[in-house]
Amino acid sequence: MASEPTAMADLFESITSSQDVYTVELGVHFALQILFWWLPGITLVSLNYLAPSFSTRYKIQPAEKQHTLLDIGRCVAVSICNQAIELLLHFCLLNYYTSRGREATVRMKGDLPSLAEFTRDFVLSFIAREAIHYYLHRLLHWRPLYKRLHKIHHNFTAPIAFASQYAHPVEHILLNVLPITLPLVVLRSHVLVLIVMVGWDLLATSVAHSGYDFFLGLAKMHDRHHERFHVYFGSSGGFGIMDWAHRTNEESVVQKKVD
Ligand SMILES: [Zn+2]
Ligand SMILES: [Zn+2]
Repeated sequence: MASEPTAMADLFESITSSQDVYTVELGVHFALQILFWWLPGITLVSLNYLAPSFSTRYKIQPAEKQHTLLDIGRCVAVSICNQAIELLLHFCLLNYYTSRGREATVRMKGDLPSLAEFTRDFVLSFIAREAIHYYLHRLLHWRPLYKRLHKIHHNFTAPIAFASQYAHPVEHILLNVLPITLPLVVLRSHVLVLIVMVGWDLLATSVAHSGYDFFLGLAKMHDRHHERFHVYFGSSGGFGIMDWAHRTNEESVVQKKVD
């Protein structure tokens, strides 16, 4: 992958050499939100109105707990604010790094990463993301922080896709942005790793909050967290690894009560 003059390498080269770094990096984050969060979110939320019988068949929680149009409006407004804050903070971070001679927060120019480099950065950032997200989420369930920050996100006991970014701005940065951005910036990963990681994270969180059970059980765990509060603290795209390790999956919590 490294020095082959591939079409993808040419595309990256032409974009990074013709546009300034602010346009490219902030544009990548904006495009990822549109492609992997807004479009899946609009599709999933629309199912309730465009295909009601299909929607009813696959909804995890009962009809009386489902959202209203007002709920959708609240989610959209809060999510736009959170995404604007996120882009502003990203601008500040980029400004900080470029003023110190770094080309961007992640690597943009030169060869594409080799398969070995891509795999190493993907695995390390995935593990770091899971750990940071899990422990910060547990911390946000500590009563003083829960009341001030995390309670807003838990207003939805039966979530919808747009509720994935319905959160206090501080929580949005701590749980949705920091765990994924920090490892990639520390590792100075290639922007291609960032695109895959952030794209998967946004898609997974939309699906996990969708309230539908036709995604191989992916939505069930986080839906259960919204319903029960004390199970499944792991990230939406983490396949329950941290909950399994800490015995905060539902089976273990039930077993602990029996013991
Ligand atoms: Zn929670
Ligand atoms: Zn949630």
